[in-house]
Amino acid sequence: MADVIDLRSDTVTRPTEAMRAAMACAEVGDDVYGEDPTARLLEERIAELFGHEAALFTPTGSLANVLAVRTLVGVGEEVLCESSAHVARAELGAHAAITGLTMRTWTHPAGRPDLEAIASLFAPDLGPFFVPTRAIAVENTHNFAGGTITPIEELRALRAYADSVGCALHLDGARIWNAHVATGVPLAEWGAQVDVLAVCLSKGLGAPIGSLVVGSQAAIDESRVWRKRLGAGMRQVGVLAAAGLHALDHHVDRLADDHANAHLLAEALGVDPAGVATNIVVASRPDAASYVARAREEGVLISALGTNRVRLVTHLDVDRAATEHAAAVLASL
Ligand SMILES: *Cc1c(COP(=O)(O)O)cnc(C)c1O
Repeated sequence: MADVIDLRSDTVTRPTEAMRAAMACAEVGDDVYGEDPTARLLEERIAELFGHEAALFTPTGSLANVLAVRTLVGVGEEVLCESSAHVARAELGAHAAITGLTMRTWTHPAGRPDLEAIASLFAPDLGPFFVPTRAIAVENTHNFAGGTITPIEELRALRAYADSVGCALHLDGARIWNAHVATGVPLAEWGAQVDVLAVCLSKGLGAPIGSLVVGSQAAIDESRVWRKRLGAGMRQVGVLAAAGLHALDHHVDRLADDHANAHLLAEALGVDPAGVATNIVVASRPDAASYVARAREEGVLISALGTNRVRLVTHLDVDRAATEHAAAVLASL
């Protein structure tokens, strides 16, 4: 147990031996020419899983979000989202810088949609006077709220509202896999509620890189052009897509282990496990920076969220034994 236990994020996972083997023997071609069979296979498989026509492989989830949202919202138009959403807080203003859209936000402690707040923000197209709302973006699971799940019923209600006012929906589904495994709601059910979505392979699924935009054929055709325009057309990318295909086969159902491990950590930290929906635990600590430093001295890496909260994320590189060890260390601090 001398190894460091890294609970800072589920992005720190390293490809397993089996994943590396799958990558090493991937069939590849020039994907800018549309000739990489492994990338194509991944895109087709993801599109089918979420019940949409097509999908597009991207290097990052941030790029997938930018491409997805820009199929719905144009220059000088707006998207509504939750105030701590990744699209609003953690993409360095890319949606404004690249697409030229504006954002307005509602706030929900669990990062979920608030229909009343959304309805009061929504602006119909009144001609050349006010910014029109074109889309609403939701995040499931919600990262900064602590891996919280927006239940499928709430997403259905939001869809009904959006339809009633003629507005589109985007889902930042970087961790939709965790919501799927925790609730048992099929991926296609989540996909069916939204016009376009972005999903990550590089979080809990353990691929070294990769996200996808998922949507209609027209949205994906447009996103392919914009991906290239932004300099992210990739060549023999099948070596990376193969990691994603391997993750789909081997690393989805096991997310349940991460959720169970998160419960164990929550108990050790005095957090109510009932509030831990998936693989992220957020705990209040009066001096987060010093708590993080003391944990590091004991070989457990965690993150500070601001000055008085810490975040722990479970993932496939931290097994049950390592989780138990980390829980004992953290409980002793
Ligand atoms: C990680 C993440 C993304 C994408 O992040 P990249 O680092 O750009 O791949 C998008 N949305 C959420 C909620 C995330 O947690």
